Amino acid sequence: MIEIGPKDNVFILTGAGISAESGISTFRDPDGIWQKWNPQRVATPEAWQADPNLVWKFYSERRQKATAVRPNPAHFALAELETSLHDRLFVCTQNIDPLHEMAGSRRVIHMHGELMKSRCDRCSRPPFADAETHFDAVPRCSCGGRIRPHICWFGEVPYAMDAVLGALEDCQVFITIGSSGTVEPAASFALWAGAGNRREGARKYYVGLESPANCMFFDEVFLGKAGQLVPQLLSGNCHGETFGN
Ligand code: NAD
Repeated sequence: MIEIGPKDNVFILTGAGISAESGISTFRDPDGIWQKWNPQRVATPEAWQADPNLVWKFYSERRQKATAVRPNPAHFALAELETSLHDRLFVCTQNIDPLHEMAGSRRVIHMHGELMKSRCDRCSRPPFADAETHFDAVPRCSCGGRIRPHICWFGEVPYAMDAVLGALEDCQVFITIGSSGTVEPAASFALWAGAGNRREGARKYYVGLESPANCMFFDEVFLGKAGQLVPQLLSGNCHGETFGN
C-alpha cells in the first residue's frame, strides 16, 4: 500500500509502460518502435544533419498516431492526485506523448521532450505547440533555421534536470510507473530520491508489468498493469511484494 503523509512531497517518474494500455508501444514490445526504425537514423543529432526529411517522417507518423490515443486510468489517477497534493506532487515523465496533459495533469516535466512541440535548430525561440505533420519538406523558422521536433535525442542532455534533481532530493515518497530501469539518467532517480532528507530518506515504490533492472533501489515492487494498479495504489487498497530494506 502506498501511504502519502499530509506533509510528504511525492515524486512520480513515468515511463513508456504507463502509456502501453493507451495503445502506444513501449521500447520492449515485440512490435515496439525500434523494431521498425533504426534510432541512429531518426533520433540523433547526426540523423538530423544527415537526413532531416527522414527524421520528420518518423515524428510525423508518431504525431498521427498520438492524435488517436486516449489516457488510461493510470493517467487519470495521477491527474486526480495533483488536485489533492498541488505543489507537493512532482510528475516527471520520460514519455513524449501528451497523455498526462490529456488526462488533466497541469504540471508535468517532459525530460525527453514533447511530441506535440517543435523548436528552431538555430535561434533561441522557445519551443512551441505544433501538431503538424511534415512528410514533404522540412519547415523553416523566420530566422532561416530549420524547425525540428522538441525531442531529447540520443546523445542530447535531458531537459529541466535542475528542477528534477531538486524535487528528487526533497521527496519523501518516490514512485516509478512503467519504466524498465535501463535508460539513464532516469534509471538512477530511485537511487538519488530522498537524498536531501538524510534521516529517513524516501519510501520508494515501483509499479509495472515486470521487475525493473533497477529493482534493488525500491522498497516495494507492485507487479501488474499500470491502468489497474495505479488507481488502486493511490486510493490505498493494494498490496505488493516487499524487497529487502
Ligand atoms: P521501456 O520500453 O524500456 O520499458 C517499459 C516498461 O513498461 C517495461 O518494463 C514493461 O514491463 C512495462 N510495461 C509494459 N506495459 C505495461 C503496463 N500496461 N503497465 C505497466 N508497465 C508496463 O520504457 P522506458 O523505461 O520508459 O524507457 C524507454 C524510453 O522510451 C524513454 O526514453 C521514453 O522516452 C521512450 N518511449 C516513450 C514512449 C511514449 O512517449 N509513450 C513510448 C516508447 C518509448
